[in-house]
Amino acid sequence: MIQEKERVEVNATSASITGKMSIFDHEQVVFCQDNATGLKAIIAIHNTTLGPAVGGTRMWTYVSEADAITDVLRLSRGMTYKNSLAGLNIGGGKAVIIGDSRKDKNEILMRRFGKFVNSLNGKYITAEDVGISTRDMEFVKMETDHVVGLPEYLGGLGDPSVVTAYGVYMGMKASMKELSGQDSLTGKKILVQGVGSVGENLIASIVKEKAEVFVSDIYAEKVKKVVDAYGVTAVDPVEVYDMPMDIYSPCALGATLNDENLSHLKCAIICGAANNQLANEERHGKMVLEMGMLYAPDYLVNAGGIINCYGELMGFSKSAAMSKTEKIYTTALEIFQRSKQENIPTYLAANQIAEQRIGSVGKIRSKI
Ligand code: NAD
Repeated sequence: MIQEKERVEVNATSASITGKMSIFDHEQVVFCQDNATGLKAIIAIHNTTLGPAVGGTRMWTYVSEADAITDVLRLSRGMTYKNSLAGLNIGGGKAVIIGDSRKDKNEILMRRFGKFVNSLNGKYITAEDVGISTRDMEFVKMETDHVVGLPEYLGGLGDPSVVTAYGVYMGMKASMKELSGQDSLTGKKILVQGVGSVGENLIASIVKEKAEVFVSDIYAEKVKKVVDAYGVTAVDPVEVYDMPMDIYSPCALGATLNDENLSHLKCAIICGAANNQLANEERHGKMVLEMGMLYAPDYLVNAGGIINCYGELMGFSKSAAMSKTEKIYTTALEIFQRSKQENIPTYLAANQIAEQRIGSVGKIRSKI
């Protein structure tokens, strides 16, 4: 694995694709194109030391192909760390489909994508991510068995976002425990940015605990839905980073912890579901620490979804997936402890634990 000091921006425009792959030591990248369906997708397999690469498929309107490549490389690497830290026997991979999920998605597009997944013979196992639903995974399943995140009637454990939200909730409580000695969220000002599948399930839990909840989304109808259902308060997306709050919970897209936003952000805890929240791990992880905010590493607290998917692969129940997800609470406290003892950012403490496991298992594997 690359050391922090050697790390360079994976989105450096000058790098070739294999050059970009070498930065974080990606194993394989597969480009998928089909004129008949209009499918343009990229599958990235980061590391298979622990097992087949498992991670969701994101559908997004990338401005350029370079942006899509950067995203899939960052996301797949994140899955390697997430799966390792959660103690799962699977490696890291991810896929992106370039397009507008509201307009371009249909059965044949998803089935064609399923055929590409199938051609990898199980080295990559897909699931849902932003822009992709359980229903879409049903279409993928028509073409391949290398898919999880399926509805219950197809032998799956249902929508993973419920379990993801539970993990984020556990992460919030652990963060509060770390700061105040008590894990209650009652009366705490929490802003949930992005009220999609995970955001909405998270809101249900924190409202139940009587937190003071604020919400923001780029789609007004989504905001209205949760305001009406839970009595939460809407915040304009442009005002999010100027609002004083106890917990900022990014549940939309990544890289919101960047130079610009961090110069405004006023909160005690950052804990949300979005992948790759730190635009640049090393730089922004350090900034967050120096600003005195407690960052609950994204791939730790959002592991519930992949734990649910792992349950499908291993044949354990939804309640077992929830119990395993509950352990995010204790893992978070361990990471906070390590971060304090070694005076390092929390993301780095998490990375070290994940890398140690991969390194140790890699040693055993090479001896088989
Ligand atoms: P989703 O597509 O259902 O919801 C995302 C929401 O964010 C949408 O409502 C969208 O309109 C909103 N959004 C997009 N850009 C925004 C912006 N700039 N400001 C405010 N809102 C914005 O996705 P989801 O399944 O809820 O996942 C949310 C995040 O959590 C993603 O980053 C995803 O990768 C991550 N995640 C999800 C799971 C899961 O189980 N679904 C698991 C792990 C990580």
